[in-house]
Amino acid sequence: MSFKDLNLNKPILRAVTEQGYDNPTLVQEKTIPLVLAKRDVITSAQTGTGKTAAFALPILQLLFDKQDAEKGGKKIKALIVSPTRELAIQIHENFKTYSKYTNLRTGLVFGGTSIEPQKDILKKGVDILIATPGRLLDLHKQDFINLTYIETLVLDEADLMLDMGFIDDVRKIERLCPETKQTLLFSATIPHKVEHLANTILNNPERIEVTPNNATSKNLGQLLYYVPKKNKIALCLHLLRNTIKGNIIIFRRTKYGVDKLEKTLLKNGYKADGIHGDKSQSDRQIALNRFKKGEVHILIATDVAARGIDVDNLDAVVNFDLPNIPETYVHRIGRTARAGKGGIAYAFCSADEKTYIKDIQKLINLQLDIIEDHPYPLDPKAKPIVHKTPGKSKHRKGRKSQASKKKKKRWY
Ligand code: AMP
Repeated sequence: MSFKDLNLNKPILRAVTEQGYDNPTLVQEKTIPLVLAKRDVITSAQTGTGKTAAFALPILQLLFDKQDAEKGGKKIKALIVSPTRELAIQIHENFKTYSKYTNLRTGLVFGGTSIEPQKDILKKGVDILIATPGRLLDLHKQDFINLTYIETLVLDEADLMLDMGFIDDVRKIERLCPETKQTLLFSATIPHKVEHLANTILNNPERIEVTPNNATSKNLGQLLYYVPKKNKIALCLHLLRNTIKGNIIIFRRTKYGVDKLEKTLLKNGYKADGIHGDKSQSDRQIALNRFKKGEVHILIATDVAARGIDVDNLDAVVNFDLPNIPETYVHRIGRTARAGKGGIAYAFCSADEKTYIKDIQKLINLQLDIIEDHPYPLDPKAKPIVHKTPGKSKHRKGRKSQASKKKKKRWY
C-alpha cells in the first residue's frame, strides 16, 4: 500500500514525501482509514511504529477538508493529550511537519514552564492542540481553552497516563469535550485499566494491534549480566570502556539513581546527560537535543522521562536497574534495533531482581544470553561460560573495523 492509496490530500502527501516516507507503516495502514471514516479506535502500538503519523495524518486530512467552511477565529477541533512533556513536544513537531503546506495551526501546552506564552498562542487560535493533562485543565479553568468544538480526541500512551495517576484528569477532559466526538486511544500495552477506560469512553471502537515487538528481533542482542547491586556502577564503567559503543540510553529506576550515575560518569571522563522528572523542562530538552544531535553519546533516564522519545541510531540500551513491570523492559529495548538496524540491550540483574528477569523472559518468551565472563559476577565461583555471538551491533563510524575484529573473538 502507498500513501496515495490512503486518499490523503496533496499538501499532506507532499509533506510526507518530503519526510522520505515511502510507504505507510503497518499501524498507519490499519489506523488511517478508520480515523478518516470517523470511527473510534483503540490501537496497541508503541513509539517507533509510526503511530504519531497514524493519527496526525488523518486528523489533518479531516480538518483540511473542512477549513474553508470555518468562519470567525480558529477553534480547537482536535485535542491530543500526552502524559509527558517530551512526547507532547515530539507530537507537536510531527504535526507541524505534516501540516506545513496547509493553513492548519497547531498549538502546544504543557506544565513545568511559563504559562503566559502558551496563553498568547491560544489567544491567536489553533486548530489542533497538544497538551499534557494538568496544564490543559489549568488553562481551561482560566478560560483560555474551549473544548466544546472538539471533533477528535486522542489519548496517547494511555497506559502511562494511567500509571502516572492522570485517570481523573483524563475523565475530566473527556467530559469537557462534546459527547459526539471521535476518540482515539493509543497505548503501548492494553492492561486491564486501559481496557476499562476504553470501554467507558470509546464508542464501539475498532481494535488494532501492532505487535510491538522487536523484543525477539534477530537484529537485537539481549545480554544478561548477573551482578551484585554494589558492583553495578563498576560493571557499567567496565562495559563502557571495553564493550558498549555508540549512542546509549541507560535506564535507572529512580531520579536519585540517574543523578548518581551521571555524576560518576562525568567524573570518569564520559560526556553524559541525565533526564528525570525533577529536572527543569529546559534542562531536559537541552539534554535530549544534545543526545539527538550526537553531541552527547550517553543519556541516563528514568522510564517516565524517556517514554515516547524517538531517537534515531540508538546502538545500545542498558537496563541498569531492571523494571518491576516486564512491559517496561519491552518499551526500553524497543528504542534500539529499529527499522532493520542492529542494537544491543544489556540487562544488569542483582540478587533482588531475579524475579523481575523471570517475568521479563516469560513476557518476551525468550531466554536472554547470560554473560558470566565479567569481573563482577553475582556468584564469584561461577565458571566463565563462552556464549555464541548474539545479534549484530551497530557501532560508531570509524570504529567499525575495530569493533568487528573484537566481535570475531568474544566482543562482549
Ligand atoms: P513514532 O512511532 O510516531 O514515534 O514514529 C517513529 C519514527 O518513524 C519517527 O521518526 C517518524 O518520523 C518515522 N515514521 C513515521 N511514519 C513513517 C513511514 N511511513 N515511513 C518511514 N518512517 C516513518
